Amino acid sequence: MNNSTIFMGFHYQFSPFGTGTINEKGAMQPQIILLKEGTEASQGRSQIISNINACQAIVDCVRTTLGPRGMDKLMVEAQGKATISNDGATIMKLLDVVHPAAKTLVDIAKSQDAEVGDGTTSVVILAGEFLKQMKPFVEEGVHSQIIIRGVRKATQLAVQFINEIAVKPKKDDDVELRQLLEKCAATAMGSKLINQQKDFFSKMVVDAVMMLDELLPLNMIGIKKIPGGALEDTLLVAGVAFKKTFSYAGFEMQPKQYTDPKIALLNIELELKAERDNAEVRLENVEEYQKVVDAEWTILYDKLEKLHLSGAKVVLSKLPIGDVATQYFADRDMFCAGRVPDEDLRRTMKACGGSILTTVADLGDSVLGTCQHFEERQIGGERFNIFTGCPQAKTCTIIIRGGAEQFMEETERSLHDAIMIVRRAKKNDAVVAGGGAIEMELSKHLRDVSRTIAGKEQMLISAIARALEVIPRQLCDNAGFDSTNILNKLRQKHAQGNRWMGVDILNEDVADNMEKCVWEPSLVKINALSAASEATCLILSVDETIKNPKSGEGPAPQGRPGARRPF
Ligand code: ADP
Ligand code: MG
Repeated sequence: MNNSTIFMGFHYQFSPFGTGTINEKGAMQPQIILLKEGTEASQGRSQIISNINACQAIVDCVRTTLGPRGMDKLMVEAQGKATISNDGATIMKLLDVVHPAAKTLVDIAKSQDAEVGDGTTSVVILAGEFLKQMKPFVEEGVHSQIIIRGVRKATQLAVQFINEIAVKPKKDDDVELRQLLEKCAATAMGSKLINQQKDFFSKMVVDAVMMLDELLPLNMIGIKKIPGGALEDTLLVAGVAFKKTFSYAGFEMQPKQYTDPKIALLNIELELKAERDNAEVRLENVEEYQKVVDAEWTILYDKLEKLHLSGAKVVLSKLPIGDVATQYFADRDMFCAGRVPDEDLRRTMKACGGSILTTVADLGDSVLGTCQHFEERQIGGERFNIFTGCPQAKTCTIIIRGGAEQFMEETERSLHDAIMIVRRAKKNDAVVAGGGAIEMELSKHLRDVSRTIAGKEQMLISAIARALEVIPRQLCDNAGFDSTNILNKLRQKHAQGNRWMGVDILNEDVADNMEKCVWEPSLVKINALSAASEATCLILSVDETIKNPKSGEGPAPQGRPGARRPF
């Protein structure tokens, strides 16, 4: 046990938690738990309620960002770095939550982001609403375990139902699959800053994902940002692209285009070392000094010659390539780039084949990469090295153009969401209608099921059914619609069997969102529901928090030993 946490007291002096006893044999029994001064502990029903309240506060922070009409948040960190975002996970990460129970919500947002990439705001709002609906039960004294069982049952029913009703468009039809993917991407981006350009970007994102191979590895889509230009100037390169690196004189004489070049990827410095810096050499005369200098040049020339003889046309190195080498390559119609970022060099290796070499001793074709076309191209104010037609792995690079830095960062995050969704949808192609349609349908289903159950679960399941309505309600509130009115309409439509009726953001009405192509992969919804329900159960099952002061810290100034106060 950490000595700073709780220690077992063997003395039986005063303690708010009881006293020690001496048994017949006179030996002390370690019965007393004495908390270090400043330790806070609170427990019981009031603890659960206070945790629920803390979670509500967190939910209120992200509530307004949900949906196509949601607002963005501008967050300023301690160092003054400002971030503008609409992404639940990003906001939650930056919020720096200290409340122990409310941190759970941060975690589910993060896990939703990692697992499916979208639905991060929804998951937090859902969890908050589940807790809110469960609060009256806790207050009335229903046991946590019963509530938890009810929540689990409701979630299980809901997930089952999503799987039943999700629509699976035909996968073998390429045109239809593409349409499906583009619609999912457009829905994911509809709520972001770039929603005006969502048609442009959804095509690009689908193109990008289509370029990947079966496993759809995310790190094979590179995203680069160059300030300047319009958002529509953003381009997708079918291959690897990275910014031109620092170069020396002579670089401009090198050719900037090749077809089918061999590519050498190095982790070698091609530069003359200033020998006087490195060692002390005692020399008698000028000839000897010349020999040392010559030796240095010979080593470098030897490397350069080997590279030249190998037939490589493009030489990339993680380490610097100096002026002598640059000139040497220029004279032999070769291209070189030094100080290539590690990530880019690796992606080039994966795409073009070959290996990253630390010696030039054995330069065969097997260690050299190749691609169909290489060129250096001017994009905005920057020059890019672009490799296309890569034989090995399929890869692509999105070069984002735009004004402010924060804007491009948010664009990158939005594209990331959309890419994740398209990947998900491609792997697992069932979709449901968004805009609150699926939540309303689930709500109706749960309400119907609850009526067939006798016992406390009936109330709990119908409470979860009510909680699900928070998504359409919030979508309406954020758009400035009369949410009560629209929810009444939705309830009526769903009762009549119009399964995919949801909020129509454009016309302040309800609409069939399946027809309107507001589609979301069913996996996003399943994951969000399960994560929200898990968080709810977790928070409901905690009835005591013990917080110890940091070790080394003196007793908290206001702290009485074992003071009980809610957080
Ligand atoms: P999240 O981080 O949870 O994805 P968003 O801000 O992206 O949060 O909002 C997603 C919600 O917005 C989903 O419930 C989705 O169905 C809804 N939505 C997206 N596009 C539309 C649209 N065009 N009309 C109505 N609802 C939409
Ligand atoms: Mg989203």
